[in-house]
Amino acid sequence: MKTLQELTRPNIWRLKPYSSARDEYSGASASVFLDANENPYNLPHNRYPDPMQRDLKLELSKIKKVTPAHIFLGNGSDEAIDLVFRAFCEPGRDNVVAIDPTYGMYQVCADVNDVEYRKVLLHDDFQFSADELLAVADERTKMIFLCSPNNPTGNDLLRSEIIKVINDFEGLVILDEAYNDFSDEPSFLSELGKYPNLIILQTFSKAFGCAAIRLGMAFASEGIIGVLSKIKYPYNVNQLTQQQAIEMLHKYYEIERWVKILKEERGYLEEAFVELPCVLQVFPSNANFFLARVTDAVKIYNYLVGEGIIVRNRNSISLCGNCLRVTVGTRTENAKLIGALKKYQ
Ligand code: PMP
Repeated sequence: MKTLQELTRPNIWRLKPYSSARDEYSGASASVFLDANENPYNLPHNRYPDPMQRDLKLELSKIKKVTPAHIFLGNGSDEAIDLVFRAFCEPGRDNVVAIDPTYGMYQVCADVNDVEYRKVLLHDDFQFSADELLAVADERTKMIFLCSPNNPTGNDLLRSEIIKVINDFEGLVILDEAYNDFSDEPSFLSELGKYPNLIILQTFSKAFGCAAIRLGMAFASEGIIGVLSKIKYPYNVNQLTQQQAIEMLHKYYEIERWVKILKEERGYLEEAFVELPCVLQVFPSNANFFLARVTDAVKIYNYLVGEGIIVRNRNSISLCGNCLRVTVGTRTENAKLIGALKKYQ
């Protein structure tokens, strides 16, 4: 791996971050706070939140078995995706490599930050080859993006290929595990210590059932977390979100229960889909959604909208011609979908 300094944009490496009032004083013993130009009325919403989200990171560290110094929290994982471009890629000069198809925000953030985005097509079974990715990387490639289970294909990427990319690439590997809770493959989180160039993304939006509160997690070396923390907005995770996330972590058993139900429902939906005349192929999934090739994705998508059911039309995405992406819902929702598709002709 190149050094973190070599991988970081020079202006970011040199940056002296903004120091907020709550950065300078964070002890609990004071009772009079006249330092942050807040309004003394309207407790508790009048106070700025903890910029480093210490209580939340502590709770999270117990569940994730990672110390707080290895955790970055952002306004969704989308914030972390944008920040890695801003931290590590020189606009107009550096590039990144990613599998294709995959989650669309990697390319959007690359485009926003004027960073070349090099795509490598997945194979027909939606797997990738580490060598093919590494072959398109050059000395200006700062990051490689992998998403496992991948969106929109739903499959886990081969662990051996992921490891090969991490081991053989000189830059940073961003491994997006947004859907890992639904997979039987273990997360790479327990191996973070082995890989100084690895950034793992996870989110409260999927298995944790908290998409509304906008909370994403990045796990990486202390050095990388330090760079991301330096350039984030001072109060990027609001107080309501921090509180709600802690409450959710105290009910972690609920998350485990939801995951178990959703995996069962995925099986139910997949089995029912295979029997439908309008379905040509159901792709195996390790996520809380699956991809299905149908006879006519546009027509079926519009038909379902007419029935009040919204799925995602992925027809125009690489390798996904005539494919719909279906999120696993409750049994009632899933049964409505199957019922509607049975009536379709
Ligand atoms: N990564 C992947 C693979 C996703 O599919 C999504 C959302 N659809 C995200 C990240 C973004 O998650 P968040 O809500 O945490 O921004």
